[in-house]
Amino acid sequence: MLQNMPMQASVFTATILGSSAATPTSTRNPSAILLNMDYHYYLVDCGEGTQIQLRRMHYKLQKINHVFVSHLHGDHFFGVIGLISTMHLMGRDRELHVFGPPRLEEIVNLQLDASQTELVYPLVFHPTQARKEEVIYESDKHYVKSFPLEHRIPTTGFVFGEKPRRRKIDKAFLLKEDVPVPWIVRIKDGADYTSPSGIVYPNDQITRQPPAPRTFAYCSDTRYNPAIAQYLQGVDLLYHEATFMEELREVATEKYHSTAAQAALTATQADAKHLLLGHFSARYKTLDGILEEAKAVFANTSLAQEGEVIEV
Ligand SMILES: [Zn+2]
Ligand SMILES: [Zn+2]
Repeated sequence: MLQNMPMQASVFTATILGSSAATPTSTRNPSAILLNMDYHYYLVDCGEGTQIQLRRMHYKLQKINHVFVSHLHGDHFFGVIGLISTMHLMGRDRELHVFGPPRLEEIVNLQLDASQTELVYPLVFHPTQARKEEVIYESDKHYVKSFPLEHRIPTTGFVFGEKPRRRKIDKAFLLKEDVPVPWIVRIKDGADYTSPSGIVYPNDQITRQPPAPRTFAYCSDTRYNPAIAQYLQGVDLLYHEATFMEELREVATEKYHSTAAQAALTATQADAKHLLLGHFSARYKTLDGILEEAKAVFANTSLAQEGEVIEV
């Protein structure tokens, strides 16, 4: 039966390019994650050295058309000019879209101007705001929302989502019954089919259920704030900063960062399916304590590690 053959889910993965907080270590790079959503590549934050990480992991830089920057602390955007510049030297011709705080455009333009670089491809900036939730990007298959985080300077988190897919009609049925074209859209939207001779074919017997749309959310950097969970309800994979552990909870609050337990609390409040921790302070040589602390609050937690590819 058709209903027992669900449609194949498309590719949706997150590759960790950097998992460190402000100071990189010999094994941890500053923040960056590459999302592959059905072979559309979205770069989320772009700390120093991101382009080198992409090369190490054999990703083609020119396949990235959209870059999303959470805020203007260097560990989240010092790699932007390097990436833009290499794309230029490689002779890119496609547009590159950069989403981020308004001053990012000013900074990048100053850098290009000082080096008298006239880019060979169009660079399009999309300024973000950190006051309220907003859809900042949409294609026929995906959307991206930004939402406010609580940090020392204006900072946004992002939710990347798949749009719901329509049901898929069994092709053999279409041919066999010679279904008229106007019916096709209605069947894809869930209608039963009534043939000219009056036979009713229930929708679930002639179509396949599309996979449930998935979401990935990115929360770096932020202080714990229970209001944040409202933007993340039911998220499949939540990346959340865990700069500190509970023993340094006061330091975390003072520096507008979160502890591992606080990240886990947000995941619980958001009813997330999987929590991925990152943005680790260089003071932690091993991360076992961070993982343990979060798992005590939210069991399905793992640690971001450079080079790892996680299924959303
Ligand atoms: Zn940071
Ligand atoms: Zn920051």
